[in-house]
Parts: sequence; structure tokens; C-alpha cells
Amino acid sequence: MDVLGPVRKASRVLKAVSVYGDNGFLFELDLTSLQAPYPWVLSCPQSDVERVLIQRFKALGGELVRGVELLDFTQDGSGVTARIRKGTQLQTLQSEVMVGADGVGSTVRQQLGIGFHGVEYSEHFLLADVDWQSPWRNDSSHGFLQEEGLLIALPLPTGWRLIMATDSPPEAPLDVSIFEERLALILGQKPDLGEPRWISEFSVQRRLAQHYRRNRVYLAGDAAHVQSPLGAQGMNTGLADAFNLSWKLGYYLKGYGSGALLDSYEQERRPVAEKMIYGVDMLSRASLVKRPLLRRSRDSLLKLAGGRTRMSSRILRTASQLDVHYRHSPIVTSGPEAELGWRREGPLPGDRLPDAALKSVRTGHLHQLHDLLRKPVHHLILQLSEKPEHNERLVLYALSDRLGQDYRDRAHLTVVAAQQTPHSEVPREGTTRIWQDHEGEFAAAFGHGPRLWLMRPDGHLAYRAPVGNADHLLEYLDTILGKQLAG
Ligand SMILES: Cc1cc2nc3c(=O)[nH]c(=O)nc-3n(C[C@H](O)[C@H](O)[C@H](O)COP(=O)(O)OP(=O)(O)OC[C@H]3O[C@@H](n4cnc5c(N)ncnc54)[C@H](O)[C@@H]3O)c2cc1C
Repeated sequence: MDVLGPVRKASRVLKAVSVYGDNGFLFELDLTSLQAPYPWVLSCPQSDVERVLIQRFKALGGELVRGVELLDFTQDGSGVTARIRKGTQLQTLQSEVMVGADGVGSTVRQQLGIGFHGVEYSEHFLLADVDWQSPWRNDSSHGFLQEEGLLIALPLPTGWRLIMATDSPPEAPLDVSIFEERLALILGQKPDLGEPRWISEFSVQRRLAQHYRRNRVYLAGDAAHVQSPLGAQGMNTGLADAFNLSWKLGYYLKGYGSGALLDSYEQERRPVAEKMIYGVDMLSRASLVKRPLLRRSRDSLLKLAGGRTRMSSRILRTASQLDVHYRHSPIVTSGPEAELGWRREGPLPGDRLPDAALKSVRTGHLHQLHDLLRKPVHHLILQLSEKPEHNERLVLYALSDRLGQDYRDRAHLTVVAAQQTPHSEVPREGTTRIWQDHEGEFAAAFGHGPRLWLMRPDGHLAYRAPVGNADHLLEYLDTILGKQLAG
């Protein structure tokens, strides 16, 4: 979304998660071992994340209106009518669709009558942001699973955020002394935390909306799901909901796409939230457990897990949400001939498209595939074989013609030639962008051509097939992205 630069500037880079039990160090998760271009966590105050997103939204032409309250709304076959209050003024607002991203107490969800089932945890949580010279390394977060309760210390761009669990809300007005006393159990002496920059308390719930959509009205973010902040997943999941929904609504509002496209938002995103809530719940319960026997078993398991690279890499892929896929979505599919022989090679429909280095046939410059496919449209990759045959050249010609004529604003073509193909034998077609696999990275991630890969605007694979299925691919494009029929 072109926001990484300013978010990174406002953040501290965290390279590890360190976990300690009653008897000291248990394990460290090395975030830099994540196989990804950004193998770290950015510790960034949410107000800064929101500032950067708002700046980007406005730069793209978005309009943000503050101080407006949604009172209620109705919907019918032609649109949504919302009653809103701005200061003392009441207004009505007409729109084709509405997205309720109005947080955990969502007025939109309540008025739609959509259930929000789940539970509230019995523990109470206290939070303090302090300017303190802690004895711990400040490029790692630190979790202390103590008998007295969980304590987390998170380095912020300046100072530290401390979060601690208690059995009940404090009786006296909240101040840092309660944190100092808890820290004394870890450090052996009471630290002086000074005046906190922010001190607060919160309770934790785990809930999931029964549906994400009713006709023209959608839910996204905490309005649809809420869970313990221990997994640091809530905002990230909400942003991914919005990304999934926005390109579908974008097509719909321009008159493209089938009803299946809009239905797929709930079908794809609700299972992701369900799985995430379950995982974060397990993590939270394990962190908060009090019974000595369970605590000892947990600590032994954590020690064991810390030494296992495969386990750490699974935890990292889940926590970074890089393992999110939509393989069961009804709008992703393979061509009829795709399953024979190469099921295990390359990404499956619904997976995130892997990245690879490519060389421009025209300039010889190196680029990353992900950077080439940034424009938020569908991207069709035609992967050629080592010795491109006549039918591959015909498909290249036919696809560049059809996409250029019928899908110019929705689907772009990118051609990838194999590393071994001599430069002079790489086919060229009009203005189509042609790239060559660099050091076999593309073949390692996708297998060997000739194949068709269609990527959605959110980076997930919509369709894959051998080149011989080009007609089937065009039928698929027509169903998913074709003009809506009037009426
Ligand atoms: C202590 C803590 C730490 C966290 N840490 C992380 C983390 O590290 N990583 C992470 O990914 N997530 C984290 N989260 C979760 C994250 O804060 C939330 O998931 C995120 O803020 C949800 O965003 P949202 O836009 O869906 O809802 P909200 O942030 O709640 O925004 C909803 C907005 O809707 C407005 N609104 C509500 N009703 C109406 C109405 N009727 N009319 C008009 N406007 C209305 C509200 O004023 C608000 O501006 C943390 C949460 C907590 C409590």
C-alpha cells in the first residue's frame, strides 16, 4: 500500500520475542529467520499507524470526515440510507453500499441483528507507557509467565510499554506502583518507573460476528472479530479484511463482477478470523494459566519448542499472517487440466503468490515479481517453457489481444521466460512486459512452464492452469470480472 517507509520511520524494529518462566529464560523466537522481505516486527504506536494510513488515503483522493455519528440506517434494492449526526445537525446519506468498520461495539452490526458470540476473559489487564532504562535488550519484546500473573514488556520507539494481568481491577486509583511491585519480583529490586506517559486498564474478549454481510452492508475489523491483544493480530486482521473487500467493492461499483465476488468476502475472511481467534485464545490461556502442574508442563513444552526450527518457523508464518490462504474459496480455481501431475508444484489457487527475482528482457535490470504486480488489478502471468512452442506464442498473442481489448482496466499480462531460454528466442508481443527468470528463482517457486497464473489485486492466486487451458481462463475471467448484466 506504499506505507512501509513512513511506518518504519515511526517505529522501533523488533528482532526477537523472549519468553521467561519462574526459573528464568525459556525460549527466544528469532524474527529475522522469517523467510520474507521484512523479517521483523515494527513496534509502532497505533496513532502513528493511523496517521500514516490517513495520509496515504488522502493522497489517493479519499475524503475523511471526522465528528460524524451514524444513528441508524435502512437498506433496500437500490441502496442504503443512513441517518447521521454532525454536531447539532441531522443529515441523511445515500450510498450504494456501506461498510461498518465501527469497532467492537458496532452500531452497524447491532442494527443488522448479527450475533457476536464469544466470551470475556476473567483476567483484568493494566497498561503503562513509561520512560524507563530497562535492563533488557530493546530490540526484543519480553514476556514473563510468572506465578503472580503475566507481564509483558514491549520496547516502543521511545520508552517501554508494560502490560500486566491481574485477577481483579485494582482497588486504589491506578498508578505505576503496581507495575513496580510486579517488576520487583523479576528484577529482585523495585525499579523507579517515573511518571507514566499513559496508564490505562482493559478487559479482553473473544468474539466473532455470525455474518460479515447483509445485502448491501458489510462488517470489517473489530466490528466483525475481537480477541486478546496478546497475539498482536487484531488491527492486522482488520486491515486484511479491508484489503480483501475493497477490490471486490471497487469492481462492483464500476459495474463489473458477479454476485459470487461479493459473497466471497465473508467466505474467505470469516474462516481466517475464526482460526486466528482460536490460536490467540490458546496462546492467551497458556500464558495466563495458574495451576502449578499445567504451568510446569507449559514451560517444558516452550523450552522444547524454542529449540525446534520447524516449530519456530510455523509460529512466525502464523503470527505474520503469511500463511493465510483462501484455498477453500468458491471464487478461486484451477483449469481442467491443472491437477494432473503438478499438484505439489507451485502455489495452489487461494495461496499468496510467491515472490521471485526477474530480469527485464529489454533493459537487463533486476526486479522483484511482487514489485512488478503492485497495481491493484488482476495480473495474469504467462510462464513460458524453456523452448517456447508455437502454441505458447499463439496463446501469448491471443491473451495480450483479449486482455488489452476487454479487461484493460482489470487484468494486465506479464510474461515470464525460463532462465535457460536464449535471449534471441524469447517471444515478444507488442507492448506486453516480458521478463526472464533470474537464477531459477521463479522456477523454484512456481515449477516449470508453460503455465498460466492469475493473481488477484490482494496478492492471492485466483486461477492456475496449463497454457492449453487459455479458453477456460477467459471464461473464468468473464464470470468473475465481466460486465454486470443490467437488472
Ligand atoms: C492494548 C491493546 C494492544 C493492541 N495491540 C495490537 C497489536 O499489536 N497489533 C494489532 O494488530 N492489533 C492490536 N490491538 C487491536 C487493535 O487495536 C484493534 O484491532 C483495532 O484498533 C481495530 O480497528 P477498527 O478500525 O476495526 O476499530 P476501532 O479502532 O475501534 O475504530 C472504530 C471507529 O469507529 C468509530 N465509531 C464507532 N461507532 C460509531 C458510530 N455510530 N458512528 C460513527 N463512528 C463510530 C469509533 O469512534 C472509532 O473511531 C490491540 C488492542 C489493544 C486493546
